[in-house]
Order: sequence, then structure tokens, then C-alpha cells
Amino acid sequence: MNPARRPMIAGNWKMNAGGADGCDLATGVARVAAEHDSVDVLVAPPYTALAAVSHALSEDKSDLAVAAQNMHFEEAGAYTGEVSASMLKVAGASWVILGHSERRQLFGETDELVAQKMTAAFGAGLAPIVCIGELLEEREAGQTLAVVTRQLKAVLDELGGNPGLGVVAYEPVWAIGTGKVASPEDAQEVHAHIRGLLSEASADLGRDTRILYGGSMKGTNAEGLLGQADIDGGLIGGASLKADGFGKIIEVASKLAQQEKKD
Ligand code: PEP
Repeated sequence: MNPARRPMIAGNWKMNAGGADGCDLATGVARVAAEHDSVDVLVAPPYTALAAVSHALSEDKSDLAVAAQNMHFEEAGAYTGEVSASMLKVAGASWVILGHSERRQLFGETDELVAQKMTAAFGAGLAPIVCIGELLEEREAGQTLAVVTRQLKAVLDELGGNPGLGVVAYEPVWAIGTGKVASPEDAQEVHAHIRGLLSEASADLGRDTRILYGGSMKGTNAEGLLGQADIDGGLIGGASLKADGFGKIIEVASKLAQQEKKD
């Protein structure tokens, strides 16, 4: 297995578990993750719980990583209600989710804005997880590959001298929070296309960038998806809100990683 593409299982809590419940959830996840050291596990609490969750994890001596769900691209200033990349770092985040479809759809984020945020994240030493994915009508119109190409190229064009892209998450919008999961074959087709685009940009990017699948992943459907050649992990919403359900996905990723080591 390419060590740069160790499996990653990331939990996006969205606007949930923002208080003491977030600390309980994170320490519950950390207990499961500690038994599966071939998987990188990450949780993304709301802003209000970032510092407390980071603190609880370090008290527990856990190496679970903490991500923010969004950020502003400016460093500081008159942006009421916004939070910058360096503030997230101070709160204990090492990752940030950018361009989630809920940000794009509900808050009007554009490809260009996502690219701007990615540059600011790198500048502050935060690793981005850049989300891309098509709407249902785009899939039905046969535009899936064109849409993800447009979204990915916007960030690739901004990469400049950065050695890596962080992580890409392919999240078909019609699969997010709907219970409708992409088939492993359909997801793999898009992931292979994304890897091809990364390879066109640079051989290293194609070889080493982790591409996560997101959209109604849970313990019962994770194996088919995570077993695909170009699916390096999962970004999980609903099923990340219970430590045992999220733990099942971590267990599946760990089992597949062990099998791959033996093959
Ligand atoms: C997400 O919000 O990134 C996500 C994949 O949600 P869910 O797992 O609930 O579909």
C-alpha cells in the first residue's frame, strides 16, 4: 500500500454535537480508532466545540485529528461571524473541510471561493479536504464527469507551488443525507476520473492524493465502496454522530487495509 494513501475515515458532524456531547463523541471515537492504527481517523465538530474536543483528545493522548467544517479566506478583519484558518489552528484543528455541497448550495460558495480558501488554509498550515460532486439533475443529464472536472480544476489551478492538494472528497450531492448511496462501480468510475485529472496535473499528485467517497456511507455499505481501487476512505455525515456506528466504518477500513498488506 502507498503510505501516502493510508485509509482515512472522516466524520463531518455538521451543526450537531457542539458542546459537551461533542467531547463525549470524540473520546468514544478515539477509543475505537486506537484499536485500528492503519486508519487515519478525523472528526469535524462545529466551531464551538473545536477547542474543547481538541483538549479532550489530547488529555486522552489520542492521535485522532480534528477538522473544521469551513473557514474564511482572510486572516483577520471586519468579517462578522467568520473564522480564519489561523484561528482554527489555535483551536486545535489540523484539517479543514472546504466546498462541502451544503456550503455551495445553501451559502452560495463558488469554485473560485473554494480555491481561495484552499490557498489560505495552506498558508496557515491547515490541510484541506476539498469536496466536489454533482447534483442529481447533473448526473441525470450525463454531466457528472464534466462537473467534477470543473470543480477540481478550479482548485488545481490555484495550487501553485504547493507540493500536495490535501485530500479530495467526491460527494455526489444526491447521496448526501438521503440514504441513496452511489454503487461502488459508479463511485469508482468518478474516483478514477479524478485521479486521472490529478495525474495530468502532476504524477505525484495522482499517485499520492487520497480521494474519499462521501454520501450515505455506513457500516453496512462501506466495504464495497472502500474496497475500490481509487477510494481511499470516507467522509461521513449522519453515521459519524454515534461512536459505535462510525466505529463500524473504521473497522471495515482497517480490515481492508490489513487484507491489502497480506496480498
Ligand atoms: C456529508 O455531509 O459529507 C455526508 C457525506 O453526509 P451523509 O454521510 O449523511 O450522507
